[in-house]
Amino acid sequence: MEKRPVSRVTRDPSPAALKPSPRIATSCEVFADGSAVELLRDSGTGASALLVWDGKQATVAKEFTCGGHTYVPCPIPGDMGEAIALPTGHAPHGSAQSLFSEISEAFQRYTSLAEESAFLVTFFVLASWFTDLLPTAPCLLICGPAESEARALLRVLRCVCRRALSLAELTPSSFATLPFSWRPTLLMIQQEISPSLEGLLLASNSRGIHLLRNGKLVDPFCAKAVYCPTVLPESHLMKTAITVGISPATMALPVFDTQAEEALLDHLVPKLLGYRLANAARIRSSQFDAPRFTSSLRELARSLGAAVEGDEELQSRLERLLEEQNTEAKAERWDFLESVMLEGLLFRCHQPEKDRLYVGELTQTVQAILVGREEKIELEPRAVGAQLKALGLHTASLGSAGRGLLLTNDIRRRIHDLARAYGVRALEAPKGGCPLCAEPVGTESVDTKSS
Ligand SMILES: [Zn+2]
Repeated sequence: MEKRPVSRVTRDPSPAALKPSPRIATSCEVFADGSAVELLRDSGTGASALLVWDGKQATVAKEFTCGGHTYVPCPIPGDMGEAIALPTGHAPHGSAQSLFSEISEAFQRYTSLAEESAFLVTFFVLASWFTDLLPTAPCLLICGPAESEARALLRVLRCVCRRALSLAELTPSSFATLPFSWRPTLLMIQQEISPSLEGLLLASNSRGIHLLRNGKLVDPFCAKAVYCPTVLPESHLMKTAITVGISPATMALPVFDTQAEEALLDHLVPKLLGYRLANAARIRSSQFDAPRFTSSLRELARSLGAAVEGDEELQSRLERLLEEQNTEAKAERWDFLESVMLEGLLFRCHQPEKDRLYVGELTQTVQAILVGREEKIELEPRAVGAQLKALGLHTASLGSAGRGLLLTNDIRRRIHDLARAYGVRALEAPKGGCPLCAEPVGTESVDTKSS
């Protein structure tokens, strides 16, 4: 598709360009001026080459010199060459919406996904093309017992995700050995996700967290789609991922054979690469945010929304699609102890003329709420004090009656802000006359299980 590679492209105008410059083996770079290099497979020889993008045009080269460095394609490990699909060229992508429609139509045609789920998966696909530029790696969790339908979905994902690498039954020790320097999109089938594998998957969602393998640091930051029929709703992975259920197909789906696979690869992958090249700089500096979502979902939404930066219609569609997951996440956190603590704090805040709150009093209130919910948790004032500290509410000695909080305006505001961030139910029926209850929904969001 692309022209034959030239041996070298140089952007350094100074004579320094003629001096030997440090060589960097790379799989992709995006420079400050919006130019970029991207790893390609030369359709003639099968070897890797660099697509050098100057912001408007692309040249295929064996090496590229810029800013005093010479970039060369990072080598394709022998057994990985076939497993990771690399583009052979790029093509104009049209509008973001037309590209979005083409991808979601492929999911609706070849898989049993419902329309809304097909849209969510399409957001994941687009974000997978920008993982190296996003704050959080996109993660997709596919649930449900329909295993053959899930496999069909993973096959379509393999054709359209960036550098997809399909894997089955990964163990924690094999996870650390994956070729992360390629920034692959992992497509995994797991009958179970052990707590240690879940920990690794969660770590790989966050930028800058390393694993240690044979004394060397490995950066596992990568996009991933995981099919697991047995994943539990309370798993933390589910809270940080787009979750779609896959159901048995109710009617016969067109066969997704190798021809259909190649058609998708030939048609969509060059467009997706074209979309990446044209939008990388804009996506890297995206300020998209969804502050009313729980913090885990908000992080995910930021990355998914950034990947369609410049298209507000797609961004609002994303927010609508994630709304249900957000409501569920908020419903779950209502049961956490922190939320009950905040309910107790709000209740005491709303008592007239109250200017101080002793830890002992709060313990009794919180205990009463827990009893009312049939929770068999015994609270000690010491534990409540520690919990207050964890919420950023520091107690002080209030004389002979013990430690507590002075209910200053600042403290009351902090309690209300926290209650909003935790989605505490009591705030949904605000206390009449309390000016802090009446304030609009804040933008702060706290995750009860992180940090
Ligand atoms: Zn209030």
